[in-house]
Amino acid sequence: MPIKSRIRTIPDYPKKGIMFRDITTLLKDPVGFRLVIDQMTQHYLEHGMDFDVIVGMEARGFIIGGALSYTLGKGFVPIRKPGKLPGDVVGQEYQLEYGTDKVEMHTDAVVQGSRVLLVDDLLATGGTALAGAAHVEKVGGIISEMAFIVNLPDIGGQKKIESKGYNVFCLAEFE
Ligand code: 5GP
Repeated sequence: MPIKSRIRTIPDYPKKGIMFRDITTLLKDPVGFRLVIDQMTQHYLEHGMDFDVIVGMEARGFIIGGALSYTLGKGFVPIRKPGKLPGDVVGQEYQLEYGTDKVEMHTDAVVQGSRVLLVDDLLATGGTALAGAAHVEKVGGIISEMAFIVNLPDIGGQKKIESKGYNVFCLAEFE
């Protein structure tokens, strides 16, 4: 498990009882980061790229989404924390595993009818990814697939997302 073994687990972060899967140890490793991008790139080259643009969630989704956008030759759109984007935005609050958050996207970032690959580092409850999907759909985009490095299936995000009809692709799982 070369990807999984490079991810560090930090207990009780950001709150007691949470096992935080820290991907910075994976990213700082030149082999680890390349494995992530190569495996995701290969997946989409082999299974077809049924999308026009890649949308990444701030902040770790930018790292993977940016590199993938380069290797696959697709444009990149950021979904950002509030107040960071200069143009007109759509925004909404959503529930996290530990608290609430809000993100925003430029209203003209995704063209009506275009298909989107939504990217983030990790899938837990699915709240962040579903908020991203809601932004994309609000401006007329269509979610083709959601891709993550890590899935935490026991938390239930994948089931929740798939029950709403979205496709999920992940490289590694932790209990
Ligand atoms: P969800 O919204 O699916 O509950 O949580 C996923 C979001 O929270 C992602 O944006 C992810 O970056 C962050 N997150 C939650 N738990 C973890 C974790 O254990 N490790 C990392 N790297 N990110 C996490």
